[in-house]
Amino acid sequence: MEKYIPDIYQKSIYTLDYSKLLSRGIKLLLFDLDNTLVPVGQDELSDKTKELIISLKQKGFKVIIFSNSPKKRVKKISEILNVECVYFACKPMQGKLKKLVNNSNFSLNEIAIIGDQLLTDIVGGNKIGITTILINPSSNKNFIFSKLIRRIENRKMKKLRDKNLFCKGRYYD
Ligand SMILES: [Mg+2]
Repeated sequence: MEKYIPDIYQKSIYTLDYSKLLSRGIKLLLFDLDNTLVPVGQDELSDKTKELIISLKQKGFKVIIFSNSPKKRVKKISEILNVECVYFACKPMQGKLKKLVNNSNFSLNEIAIIGDQLLTDIVGGNKIGITTILINPSSNKNFIFSKLIRRIENRKMKKLRDKNLFCKGRYYD
């Protein structure tokens, strides 16, 4: 069950305590795209998100978008934010994440993944051993594949809640 439990759980990317992440030694932030940086169904980044990413870079973080979405959508947003990206990341499979970690100058304990899905973002990150951060999805909409995942996730969350391992809305960091 441990692979489903995020190290940190916050309401959104805006309520996360990034200074605390820095003090924990985190230097590289891997952001999920859909329903994390941008609500599904929207193509535009909000000013708030743009400002957040700029401030994170100023704080000294390296930021990479790590998304299962196709090249066109991911590239466009990474160019606006002026950050690197990995598309078709195939989370929770380890291939692209391993490659990214191996090609980076960061060790596992310096890397955090931030996303809205237990079964992709959190499981993927926990398997490789980086810090995992769950946030609530920024919209109720999902792409078709994510809808399926969300249904399985809801069942998983219920089990975790029954075992008192994880409870939606009970934030911690
Ligand atoms: Mg997502």
